[in-house]
Amino acid sequence: MGRSTIKRISKKLPRKAQTTASKQPTAARNTESGARSSPHHTFTSEETATLRKNLITWYDRRKRDLPWRTLADTELDLDRRAYGVWVSEVMLQQTQVSTVIDYYTKWMKTWPTVQDLAMASLEEVNEKWSGLGYYSRGRRLHEGAQKVVRELGGRMPRTAEDLQRLLPGVGRYTAGAVSSISYGQVTGVVDGNVIRVLCRLRCIGADFTSPTVTDTLWNLANNLVDPDRPGDFNQAMMELGATVCTPKKALCSECPLQTLCRAFKKIGSMTVGSLPGSPINGRCYVSAASCPLCIQSGDQWDHSLGVANYPRKPAKKPSREEQTVTCVWERPGEQEFPEYLLVQRPQKGLLAGMWEFPSMLLEKTAAVKEREDDLCSRLQEVTGREVSAQDLQYVGEVVHIFSHINQTYLVYLLRSVPAEEEECSALRWVTRRQFMESAVPTAMKKILKLCESRGFLGDAAELSKKRKKDVSDIQPPTRRAKMDSKQRSIQSFFTATIKKRALEDES
Ligand code: SF4
Repeated sequence: MGRSTIKRISKKLPRKAQTTASKQPTAARNTESGARSSPHHTFTSEETATLRKNLITWYDRRKRDLPWRTLADTELDLDRRAYGVWVSEVMLQQTQVSTVIDYYTKWMKTWPTVQDLAMASLEEVNEKWSGLGYYSRGRRLHEGAQKVVRELGGRMPRTAEDLQRLLPGVGRYTAGAVSSISYGQVTGVVDGNVIRVLCRLRCIGADFTSPTVTDTLWNLANNLVDPDRPGDFNQAMMELGATVCTPKKALCSECPLQTLCRAFKKIGSMTVGSLPGSPINGRCYVSAASCPLCIQSGDQWDHSLGVANYPRKPAKKPSREEQTVTCVWERPGEQEFPEYLLVQRPQKGLLAGMWEFPSMLLEKTAAVKEREDDLCSRLQEVTGREVSAQDLQYVGEVVHIFSHINQTYLVYLLRSVPAEEEECSALRWVTRRQFMESAVPTAMKKILKLCESRGFLGDAAELSKKRKKDVSDIQPPTRRAKMDSKQRSIQSFFTATIKKRALEDES
């Protein structure tokens, strides 16, 4: 955002909103948790001024062109601008910039204002979010938009405090980012990139999730933020962390903050075998044993990591191992395209409201017969019809990693004949094209791919020919499903007793 834009924005805001962060230097400042910071972990006034100047100069030259930055620079309407920045900040949580660009562009084309998003259905939101992961983010964004329209008169909250207080899913980071970038509020932000940069600049090596380190990092960010260009400053810190001060191989030789960086100096002065806190490397003035910000005694120092010894996080809890049995149920559809059965997940919890192949989480590592029986029970529960384990074909395994779960899907295929009409809102038959456009989790797409790559879903050449003809099939699946009066009856799939072998011959 250019300087002139900031001035224009600043005029529209109450003075209080522009100055929530202190402009005082941070040397030897107490943290909120009561820990007194050593000067080793803070910035003097001169260092703060140098950091702002070097960082902003670098950002003006090197920043990437990104659609949300263009919007923040050019959109004059404050609500539209804040909404656009909010969407980008939510999408960027846990997701790389390169992935987000396409999703963001499509999202903003579909819902350019908070009012447009508020009018969308949750299902449409899930469809648009499909593939981005962490689906609760999209749901919260949708809930927030509805709140802005229904309870706040369509006006986005104008300060970080109000954004955090009034909008579901908006935490301290998102609130600070939206308010500084959209409104020019002088407030810092702390995300993963900023944590890394600050911890390296000031040799903060204690667990960064501890309350003391968290408070320290927020204090540093709030004190460093440039009062003239807060939004650009925050974006510059994050950009530096994303492109130069990267997690594994920091590009210190290209860094505009190298002269201020204690980790860089420390590494440069260390010899193999020396310890990070030894006098030759410079150290915290607080006794190392009692400083809550230094690398804690007992923690390993890895010479091969260099500056990447910072930051430190707690040992990750091992992910939970789970097994789910799932069934790709295929039937010949209209216009010769095969169709697949999808069921909707519950509206709460993991992947809430999304569509998936009928699946069942196994209680434990079940024996083959047991898991097939479990799957048949699930299919019966979903469709109301008895399914025999003999009709199932085993395809293989798909492993998908969620944030805290290593999920292994044991994939089966079931083929059936077309049946009669039945109304059921939690079931849906979709063509492959509709499947790809539906609100289905990435794991389900992997499962379909597995079936195709192993030749289970019809003749590959034949299917490919049919898919080329599938170009007119452009209605969104949600609406298509509602309009499709010829959705067929699941109840009657098995009215005729057709043996598995005969079905395979037909397909
Ligand atoms: S000098 Fe290296 S470690 Fe320090 S902030 Fe720059 S890139 Fe990060």
